[in-house]
This record gives sequence, structure tokens and C-alpha cells, in this order.
Amino acid sequence: MAKIEENLLNIQNQIVNAKQRANTDQTVNIIAVTKEVDIARTKEAIEAGLTNLGENRPEGLMNKLQSINSNVSWHYIGSLQTRKVKQVINDIDYLHSLDRLSLAEEIEKRATKAVKCFIQVNVSGEESKHGLTKQQALDFVKQLEQFSKIIVVGLMTMAPFTEDETVIRQVFKQLKQLQQEMSQLNIPNVPCTELSMGMSNDYEIAVEEGATFVRIGTALVG
Ligand SMILES: *Cc1c(COP(=O)(O)O)cnc(C)c1O
Repeated sequence: MAKIEENLLNIQNQIVNAKQRANTDQTVNIIAVTKEVDIARTKEAIEAGLTNLGENRPEGLMNKLQSINSNVSWHYIGSLQTRKVKQVINDIDYLHSLDRLSLAEEIEKRATKAVKCFIQVNVSGEESKHGLTKQQALDFVKQLEQFSKIIVVGLMTMAPFTEDETVIRQVFKQLKQLQQEMSQLNIPNVPCTELSMGMSNDYEIAVEEGATFVRIGTALVG
């Protein structure tokens, strides 16, 4: 296993290069996706300087939370069952998978403070993927105005599993367009300034297209 420090340096360099290529200057936050690694490896990630950690199951999150008391931000990146909201919602800093009204309602009921959420969008329309279509996302966000425990900080997507860079890039471009459209709605709890997109295989393209949060597992801690 490569040292996390080395992986991180490499990824940081690639991000700098991607920003230069695209002539953009957004801040890119690296989320270390620790869902596949144990607590020792997660602690190594923290020692390497990573402060944003991502988990995709309530069990995995609780397990890590119990043994890690460093001051890190926890990102919940998996689909979240409504009945599991109460287990995790007050322990996480960001939810990347808000995709339905029933989930928003349960968060409103259970959260003791406002939760920073990304709306998950299925840009490519693949059947196998979670998330709302672009139009559904626009309709959905307008229904969230009265929710005091939900702040829509941005949009999240997963690119389709393909080698075709053009297809991937097109997905990220569309997410950015939708993000700009949403932020222009001027809904008070929907600043929608952030873009959570890009994983181990496609984060460079995502950064070129404006990602502000990249979610990296394999290439960083794997
Ligand atoms: C697992 C996962 C990642 C990280 O994937 P890698 O390919 O290992 O970088 C990112 N986002 C989500 C939603 C995931 O489930």
C-alpha cells in the first residue's frame, strides 16, 4: 500500500494542474472516502492532513466515529434510508445524497441543527443510479424553502462508468449549469454554490469542470 502522504501529494498536484489547464481558481476540498478501509488506515489519512472524511453506510460511520476523536468533518456520501436518518444525522457535517422529500422531512424532524446537504442528481439518467433528474431537482429544491434544518450547499453527481472522457465531462458540465441555475433562484436556504463531483478515476476532469469537493477513495487510501 502506498503511503497516504504520497498519494495525497500526487492528487494535490493533479488538482493544481487541472485548474491550470481549465484556467479556474475554485477551492477544491478533498474528501477521503474511507468506506473500504479500517480505522488504522483512516487515522493515517488524518495524520496525513486530511480533514474531510466520507462514509456511505451508517454502520461504517458509527464505527469510525467511536474510535476517532480528531476534529474532522464527516461526509455521508451514500444513499440514506429514511429510517436510518436518526442514527447519523447529528453526527455528520455534510449529506451528499439528498434526493427526496420524505428524506428532507425526516431530517427536519430529527436534526438538532441545520445540515449542509447536496442534492444528488442523476445527470446521465442511468437507471442504476440514485438521484433526481435535472428537472426533478429544480422542482424539489423549490419545495425545500420552508425547511429550517436543511441548507442546500450544492449538487452532487456520479459520472457514468465509462472510459469515454467526453461523456464524463458532459455530465460534469451539466451539473455545473444546473448548480448555477439553482443558485440564481435566490432561495435563502439554497445557496447552492458547491459541486461534489469526481472520484479516483475522473476527479481531474471534474476539477476542470468546476468541482469544489472531490470524493476520493481508492487513489488516496486504497
Ligand atoms: C466509493 C465512493 C466514492 C469513492 O470512489 P473511488 O473510486 O474509490 O475514489 C466516491 N463517491 C461515492 C458516492 C462513493 O460511493
